[in-house]
Amino acid sequence: MSVKDEQHQPLHILFFPFPAHGHLIPIADMAALFAARGVRCSILTTPVNAAIVRSAVDHANDAFAGTNSPAIDISVVPFPDVGLPPGVENGTAIKSQGDRGKFFLAAQLLREPFDRFLFDNRPDAVVSDSFFPWSVDAAAEHGVPRLAFLGSSMFALSCIDSMLRHNPLATVPDDPDALVSLPGLPHHVELRRSQMMDPANQAEHWGWAFFEGMDAADRRSFGEVFNSFHELEPDYVEHYHTTLGRRAWLVGPVALATKDMAGRGTDALSPDAANCIGWLDMKPASSVVYISFGTLTSFSPAELHQLARGLELSGMNFLWVIGAAGPDTSEWMPEGFAELMAHGDRGFIIRGWAPQMLILNHPAVGGFLTHCGWNSTLEAVSAGVPMVTWPRYADQFNNEKLIVEVLKVGVSIGAKDYASCVETHEVIDGEVIAESIGRLMGNGEEGDAMQKKAKDLGGKARRVVENGGSSYNAVGRLIDELTARRSSVKVGGK
Ligand code: UDP
Repeated sequence: MSVKDEQHQPLHILFFPFPAHGHLIPIADMAALFAARGVRCSILTTPVNAAIVRSAVDHANDAFAGTNSPAIDISVVPFPDVGLPPGVENGTAIKSQGDRGKFFLAAQLLREPFDRFLFDNRPDAVVSDSFFPWSVDAAAEHGVPRLAFLGSSMFALSCIDSMLRHNPLATVPDDPDALVSLPGLPHHVELRRSQMMDPANQAEHWGWAFFEGMDAADRRSFGEVFNSFHELEPDYVEHYHTTLGRRAWLVGPVALATKDMAGRGTDALSPDAANCIGWLDMKPASSVVYISFGTLTSFSPAELHQLARGLELSGMNFLWVIGAAGPDTSEWMPEGFAELMAHGDRGFIIRGWAPQMLILNHPAVGGFLTHCGWNSTLEAVSAGVPMVTWPRYADQFNNEKLIVEVLKVGVSIGAKDYASCVETHEVIDGEVIAESIGRLMGNGEEGDAMQKKAKDLGGKARRVVENGGSSYNAVGRLIDELTARRSSVKVGGK
């Protein structure tokens, strides 16, 4: 193809997500967002992970029929053989530290198909996961600009930056309850030592050094894309750009681009999904608390027992998503709890994958008990639903600070221990859980103020992705910059 012909081809972006739902789902939504603006988008992933995004991609492509938007394609490559059982290709299937090591090794071995894709297709840019820090060098070798994507808030990444830069844990006592301030941020942000990753944790695949490497690679990239929006965290946008000198585009909430509210993120929706919407239809406005902890958390039988007690004591209607693989109900369900669901009066349990976007946007839902995963958080914000926050690890304690202290659209349940899904957590009493839900949804002044703030934020979230909104414009600016870069590189004879 001549250089002149190439200039008339649509811009081509390769999206390369880490194999975990919280990364795959927003990447598929983001591809839909860019494709809707005329960009040719490819997603490179492995068979099990391709199945996770297939429904969202198919729905987007159906919506593009008869328009100028090129169809999104999924380029499927085998999952590297690292000794994991067949089909274990996604973070949700990792249940032990040993398997986690193998899983991260496999993620590294994806470099070979990534290189091959860049060599064969010469895309104009790659949006690659921050969990693939090596991809910055791989992309550079092919002369392709790399945009990093972690799928977290700017607030959380500013907190991580502060941690890495100042190591504030070094100067506080070795007491789990010691309070640690994060220096250099627009707000006073303070966490308990036990809520933070310890720099002494040098685990190769989720330790401090891993985050240092990730941060360094992201800084060396062409820039970063965020599933967030300017109006949500303006002080942190300013901080990121001006104080930290990082180039970033905020293009979210990307979930609002989905044409697949029900099946997004799965090829196996729970059989309970259809009935749950009918159940919500019968409930008064804002009367239901929705409970879901994303895709990577696991709760012990003791924790589930207290959560069930808390839901019962709260007196609220509840819609609770329990992963298909959780412990048997006989291990945790309190006596009499099943009665609450028996006639559909108080509760509904979904086993397996729930249509979260449909649920959060249902008028009956008035609160969300969440682990503060960034996708869930932003989906709640977009739907105008305030939260009860129960973080577990990763960026979740930082997101809790943003929700509760900065945005003031949530009540903290008081979780204290940073521990992943393969480690144990303290058990929080049912009474505390009930009280937190009551503060948010019990018609008190505090809860009412949060409900109102959440509705306001929801309105803003929907406006920013419309023509002329801040995220809509950011997508346009990034496309323009990549297009100009293509012209200059090609004219320069590269
Ligand atoms: N999700 C869903 N149904 C479920 C569980 C999860 O649609 O039953 C989606 C949820 O809407 C969100 C994603 O899975 O988009 C979870 O991402 P998040 O960042 O909230 O948490 P993670 O699973 O990464 O901890």
